[in-house]
Amino acid sequence: MSRTSRPSRSYPDPEWSVVHRAARRNWADSVERCAACRGRVDMQDDHYQVVLDREIDTPGKLSFERQRFVFCDEACADEWTAHA
Ligand SMILES: [Zn+2]
Repeated sequence: MSRTSRPSRSYPDPEWSVVHRAARRNWADSVERCAACRGRVDMQDDHYQVVLDREIDTPGKLSFERQRFVFCDEACADEWTAHA
């Protein structure tokens, strides 16, 4: 992620689709906010991650844009995706 703006908490536009969701634990020593409840999510502890892709149809090539959201757990991820 090279963008400096923080992702919004709301589910992105409909052209975004979930490509990956899984419980995971990262090596990264950082803390992010849960996209659903804004709770503190320590990347080194168990948490849940959802990745969304969007096709960008530019002339001559097809590429993807990707967003990653983190959640405290699967329940928060379910609640968030249910509001799509
Ligand atoms: Zn949460």
